[in-house]
Amino acid sequence: MNENRSVSGTAGSASAAREGASVPSEPSEKASAPSADSTAEGDKKHLLKIDRPRIERAVREILLAVGEDPDREGLHETPARVARMYAELFAGLHDDPRRHLVKSFREKCDEVVLVRDISFNSMCEHHLMPFMGQAHVAYLPGSRVVGLSKLARVVESVARRPQVQERMTEQIADLLQDELHARGVAVVIEAVHTCMTVRGVRKPGSLCVTSAMRGCFRNKASTRAELMTLIYGNHR
Ligand SMILES: [Zn+2]
Repeated sequence: MNENRSVSGTAGSASAAREGASVPSEPSEKASAPSADSTAEGDKKHLLKIDRPRIERAVREILLAVGEDPDREGLHETPARVARMYAELFAGLHDDPRRHLVKSFREKCDEVVLVRDISFNSMCEHHLMPFMGQAHVAYLPGSRVVGLSKLARVVESVARRPQVQERMTEQIADLLQDELHARGVAVVIEAVHTCMTVRGVRKPGSLCVTSAMRGCFRNKASTRAELMTLIYGNHR
């Protein structure tokens, strides 16, 4: 799943390259520091920190509370299934997204680096219902760049916890700004919130768009305009 994300992220940046942005290639493993962090292993560790038996008991309670019989055949394994699912969806709570930005590379780069269309799933903290969509993450490097897939890893880590889209957007921007000392960072997120589409006001098709701009993207209208063209082309 993570691998698909990286691929789609890289595809997005490739199209940015076609439109004139400079995109450093993914650094090769041999260029990496010896203490390479294994993300798969890291993910497993975070899953273990979630108290699944407690979730199972709570889900059983919810089933009883709505008038269901949690012991009937179809629901018998549901609490355990939901517990495993929550462990996955909230794994970011026990992950520090900074770990994905530790390895950076000295590289002269005067152009915007954009990874577009990073798909993500998150959980609205007000209703515990999913919201999902695309994140576009851009930065204008200072003296250092990171591997492109790391930007997708940061989105993933920040998304996998109870969230609101506005905060998620700001968190990603601040993380990149702080860790990379970039000259500017821009994050645009577009998402569909199931708490708006299947309950409450029930407006399917509505898209929430949030953005967070730092440094040159905030101060310079022309840099911001260039970014929007890279993300949306001239067709939106
Ligand atoms: Zn909600």
